[in-house]
Amino acid sequence: MIEPVEGVEPQRARCITAPNPSVLTLTGTNTWVLFEPDAERCVVVDPGPADDAHVDAVLAEVERSGCEVALILLTHGHADHSGAVDALHAQTRAPVRALDPAWCRGTVSLQDREQIDVDGLVLQVMATPGHTADSVCLHVPRDGALLTGDTILGEGSSLIAWPDGRVGPYLESLKRLRDLAAAGASLTLLPGHGPLVLWGLPALDTLIAHRAKRLDQISNVLDAGSSTVGEIVAAVYGLPGPALRDVVVAQVQAQLEYLSATGNARAADALHR
Ligand SMILES: [Zn+2]
Repeated sequence: MIEPVEGVEPQRARCITAPNPSVLTLTGTNTWVLFEPDAERCVVVDPGPADDAHVDAVLAEVERSGCEVALILLTHGHADHSGAVDALHAQTRAPVRALDPAWCRGTVSLQDREQIDVDGLVLQVMATPGHTADSVCLHVPRDGALLTGDTILGEGSSLIAWPDGRVGPYLESLKRLRDLAAAGASLTLLPGHGPLVLWGLPALDTLIAHRAKRLDQISNVLDAGSSTVGEIVAAVYGLPGPALRDVVVAQVQAQLEYLSATGNARAADALHR
């Protein structure tokens, strides 16, 4: 049994939250500015939505840090993270890198396990598919910190919207992140939405348990006679409001696809009904 150790406030990360709060984006998208102390160049992770005022706020934080932007990174391609990529790229001339080559500007795509060094700021890339196929997390070893994008949120659980979102890869990604958290003295999570999470290991255990519980619930309602996506949504999630209905349906489909792939014939039937 590994006792969790409280994480520490990161020294190398500053957060600017975009003014796009919603039921899905929580308080808004977090843009992170990362730099090694006394460095002349920094990295911006997730420029945020297409919002000029937010881009100005990010550039103001960059100026306060005394750095120039050397590199722009994306944790994944969703518009609330990537909408400002071209505006920030145009204003800073910094190259853009993501796992998906379609988002890269002036350079090549990120690779799993790649190490990036910008003026002494070390980042390790971890491909963590699940929320989307192109999701990555970025480990900042010297801060014991992990930028999680939407793979882990600061509150609640991530959306896995089938077919781009997939439960099997997501569970593997959570396991890999848990191994990282268990291997170090601490891991502070810096999410794409919501507050930072100082205790990474118990947070990961909670998320892994939550996913297992949801899959059990869906398996049980299938056994009890629910046979369509709509019936399962109602039985497990109640009646989601209009803003959430489509994403809850896609979330249920993702779980049915996973159960189907693990041999649950009722899930395979329900997936397309
Ligand atoms: Zn997302």
